[in-house]
Amino acid sequence: MDSFISNRILTTVLRLYNWLHLVIVVSCISYRRNMSQMTDSHRLFLQAFMSRGILDAKEVKSLFRTCCEKFKTHIAGNEEEKRHQLTEFVIAINSNIKPFHMEIKKGVSEEDGSNYYGLVNISESSITLLASDFSTNELDFFKKLVESIVDSDTGFVGSTDAINLVETLDKKMTRNDAQELLKKLESNKWIKVMNGQVSLATRAILELEQYIFDMFPAIATRCNMCKKLCLKGQSCDSCPVRLHFHCANKFFSGQEVPKCPASDCKSPWPRASPRKDTDQPNSSQTGANSAGTQTQTRKRKARS
Ligand SMILES: [Zn+2]
Ligand SMILES: [Zn+2]
Repeated sequence: MDSFISNRILTTVLRLYNWLHLVIVVSCISYRRNMSQMTDSHRLFLQAFMSRGILDAKEVKSLFRTCCEKFKTHIAGNEEEKRHQLTEFVIAINSNIKPFHMEIKKGVSEEDGSNYYGLVNISESSITLLASDFSTNELDFFKKLVESIVDSDTGFVGSTDAINLVETLDKKMTRNDAQELLKKLESNKWIKVMNGQVSLATRAILELEQYIFDMFPAIATRCNMCKKLCLKGQSCDSCPVRLHFHCANKFFSGQEVPKCPASDCKSPWPRASPRKDTDQPNSSQTGANSAGTQTQTRKRKARS
């Protein structure tokens, strides 16, 4: 009971801290208005990111237009100039929020290569920021889930395997609680659940990319093309090279006989066509990554 109460108190304090942190950021930026490039339209844009966390490219363009129109900021007529103006707009915001260890960061969906923008914390391991919304035990569950997903060859873990992670926790968690937690993580855009498969959502990849490389250096891989974290993608049969589906699609377009991009490999690429969004792995594939048994996957073996 005591630990329950202290957990609740800690959660409330952290929530209050995060809220105060955001208020301080906005207030300081308002105070510094004459010293920087920030205008009211920049501040409105930033506030939308603070409340929504992550937006896709279309939403960002529409938000940019709304913010400029509201404060009568001129918007360029031609698309190229408009894109440049938006980039400058985000750079101006980032230069102002950097002292507060925050950044509007661009991310790419691993499913279809579409662009997303998220407001992320760049000062500390972002996973600890979840502490304001999740209990210590829930956070431990999420960390184990992230590890399972990173350790899989597919970027997916079956939802039953995900729920079985409760067996690996130090403190007790029921399967029902785990199921509820998965729903909460999904509604907060940390994970994606589709056809019984759990994967990390773009928001989690944006926020946790550095955490994943720091925590799992032996199993986290970068895409050979864009150099970003690659969870869902294609692998070379002969070397450790991996490519996102959309990066492979770009790289192999126009090549009659697709070959591994590594200069010392050049093996025939096993599958050059991009995977469709609906092409989910079946449960037998992800079953190899059973959470309860922590089976070594091909990925971990390949690097050991
Ligand atoms: Zn890539
Ligand atoms: Zn290769």
